[in-house]
Amino acid sequence: MSSEKVKNSLNISSAIRIGVLGFGGLGQAAAKVLAAKQEMILVAAADQKGYAYAAEGLNTQECIATYQSQGSVGYLEPVGTLTTQSIQDVIEIAQPVDGYFLALPNLPNDFIPSVAKEFIKSGWRGVLVDAIKRTTAVEQLLAMKEELQAAGITYMTGCGATPGLLTAAAALAAQSYAEIHQVEITFGVGIANWEAYRATVREDIGHMPGYTVETARAMTDAEVEALLDKTNGVLTLKNMEHADDVMLEVAGICDRDRVTVGGVVDTRNPKKPLSTNVKVTGRTFEGKISTHTFTLGDETSMAANVCGPAFGYLKAGRQLHQRGIYGIFTAAEIMPQFVR
Ligand code: NAD
Repeated sequence: MSSEKVKNSLNISSAIRIGVLGFGGLGQAAAKVLAAKQEMILVAAADQKGYAYAAEGLNTQECIATYQSQGSVGYLEPVGTLTTQSIQDVIEIAQPVDGYFLALPNLPNDFIPSVAKEFIKSGWRGVLVDAIKRTTAVEQLLAMKEELQAAGITYMTGCGATPGLLTAAAALAAQSYAEIHQVEITFGVGIANWEAYRATVREDIGHMPGYTVETARAMTDAEVEALLDKTNGVLTLKNMEHADDVMLEVAGICDRDRVTVGGVVDTRNPKKPLSTNVKVTGRTFEGKISTHTFTLGDETSMAANVCGPAFGYLKAGRQLHQRGIYGIFTAAEIMPQFVR
């Protein structure tokens, strides 16, 4: 018996039932992360062409193999369904799912907020978590607070790596200071090929001078490749519109103009081009100026630093939900819970 099956037979009744919407780079990594967990079980997965649902738990390897060979988990027999509106269909199957990780492209910039609206309309109650990146996208979600509250949904936003893990680290580091002067996030991402994370790469291109979310979304794969050929596969990003700023402002830590985010993405080498870090500079109550630095281990992948926090926040959101606390929270406000 595989460890996954042992897990399922032991914990199926008590585990948090998870759906993963979007089954690309991050969605598949999320499924792999869940396969090793006792407290969570993957019951639903959806991509652009279909979905799969199994109350007793989906087999991660089968889902990934089917997606990679046929382009959709909808082909997975007997649990898959092919459809052009997989998100709506998953929401409406009326099978119990406690929480969803939205591993979807946020293209256009209001796509994930529109998915949140579908959940609100449907009457489903539970926990949603995203790893959304742009300030303007998080602002749209924050504006939906009352609708989410009324719907009985606990929505955890900005819960990937940045925003997410690094924003939370900044919130923690801020505690040493009486005043925060600067939060500087610098990320290094190394991926072996851009096709494994198409949405991430397109969204990053949208931050480059001369590009927008819309122009990046409209680029064909050949155009993305041509651009990457010109830069030797490397994207250098400065002063990005990243929601770490609004999240730290809403949490009362500092004004958004004190937060900067930039990074380097190498799309042709899994080795990180630089060590991802956040530097938090402030003044202590004694008048000393100092900087705390939190640096991620170079061996940790983007997928590890996004999916781990996403499920940690989903678990925290589940605890809030069980206490009747609904609405929307960011990664800077709530401590993630470690998922066993
Ligand atoms: P990807 O392109 O690899 O995969 C996207 C998946 O979504 C595919 O399976 C696709 O079929 C599915 N999809 C697209 N439209 C859909 C629809 N209408 N209905 C159902 N499924 C649909 O994406 P990725 O590179 O894994 O990125 C996912 C998201 O994660 C992006 O928005 C990216 O910005 C975000 N991300 C966040 C962080 C962070 O630190 N916060 C880091 C990396 C990526």
